[in-house]
Amino acid sequence: MKKLYTRLFILFLVAIPVWKSAAQTHPHCANPDVYKGKNAAGYSAGSKVFEEWISKVEQNENAKAVQDNDEIYTIPVVVHVLHNGEAEGIGKNLSNARVQSQIDILNNDYSRATGTPGFNSHPAGADTRIRFCLATKDPSGNPSNGIVRVNTNRDGFEFLSENTLLKGFSFWDPAKYLNIWSCQINGNLYIGYAQYPIIPTFWSDSLPMPQPIPDVQPDGVVIDYRVFGDVPPGESGPFTSYNKGRTTTHEIGHYLGLLHIWGDGSACADNATDYCEDTPPQATYTSGCPTGTPASCTPGVPKMKENYLDYTNDACMNIFTKEQKKRMRIVLRNCIRRNTLLQTPTSCGIADTQPIQPEPEPKLVIRNDVEKQQLVLVAPSDQTIQKIQVFSMSGQEIPVFPETEAVQSLINLQRLARGIYNIRVVTSKGQTYRERFARW
Ligand SMILES: [Zn+2]
Repeated sequence: MKKLYTRLFILFLVAIPVWKSAAQTHPHCANPDVYKGKNAAGYSAGSKVFEEWISKVEQNENAKAVQDNDEIYTIPVVVHVLHNGEAEGIGKNLSNARVQSQIDILNNDYSRATGTPGFNSHPAGADTRIRFCLATKDPSGNPSNGIVRVNTNRDGFEFLSENTLLKGFSFWDPAKYLNIWSCQINGNLYIGYAQYPIIPTFWSDSLPMPQPIPDVQPDGVVIDYRVFGDVPPGESGPFTSYNKGRTTTHEIGHYLGLLHIWGDGSACADNATDYCEDTPPQATYTSGCPTGTPASCTPGVPKMKENYLDYTNDACMNIFTKEQKKRMRIVLRNCIRRNTLLQTPTSCGIADTQPIQPEPEPKLVIRNDVEKQQLVLVAPSDQTIQKIQVFSMSGQEIPVFPETEAVQSLINLQRLARGIYNIRVVTSKGQTYRERFARW
């Protein structure tokens, strides 16, 4: 038995470096070369175990009517600027403004903000409701601007073989911060890579999770400084098509569990998938910035060449889809070193980068707390709850004796027989809400 565990552990260490990369002629991310997409062993996104897990989570959430309420998930970021002694703002020692430009690009792209290059009007396009901010406190609680500058006395780092070395210069607890390293990746081939998330806990009886969970230290995203943020003219070196900060948008997509939209296959016959149904299957990646509507593998459906998880030029990208959003948010709620990010007190002062819209009408919130077997009702912010009625599916009113305090009411569901019910709530302004809930 011990031998088996040892072997599994080694397999895991070898297989987990989760990066994704482009073809040899096309500098982009390095993940497929290392993580092998669907063929990945171990527990990371793309592997059989991970995909079984995430599809199970989705089924469970659907079955329990767990609603993703679309709350904003804000991820605290630390950017480690690895340089070679240049003055601040020169070369690899990126200015604070350049770092902030990357955060702004991420928020535009992840929110589909109007008036920015991150906007799209595609019917499958989504505001992911994921946002980013530079950390305002370091791991010891000291005030910080979320930027760490390190003179590494090196010009650059070899791809992969010096991955641990570069990250060893500086990293913060990856359970609390998204670590991004900006540096020179030698070779001018790869411009970024990310570590995929892994399943949250003991998941498969046949594949016990090695303990301790490996790969804590390298968790995060590495970006070549020449494609980091909004790159001024003449400073992107050989990567002039990637000067608008979308490499980081793409890599963080991997960090949150997204795969390349062509599933890292090389022909339609591969049936390669990214496990998102609203990204049309395509034979391979798209490069450059093709005009028109190049064909996907589905007859009559064009490729989604604007997707951030393709390889098109930065200027030609602008979409995450609804399914990609769902996948990233499941990862953020559940995966190791992802769900804890949301608990880091950030006080980033980040604004919701949604387009300015009229204040939404305050609404009644009804939440089914399956674990505690209770229904939680929160009144609209400007009202109180006046009346609650619950009806069986046959229309018979069922007494529920809600406990009401100020703006919140609780209904103990243990008294109810299992089944589906309708609830009717009247508020102090006379508004009536009707909803359906399940007693499991
Ligand atoms: Zn990639």
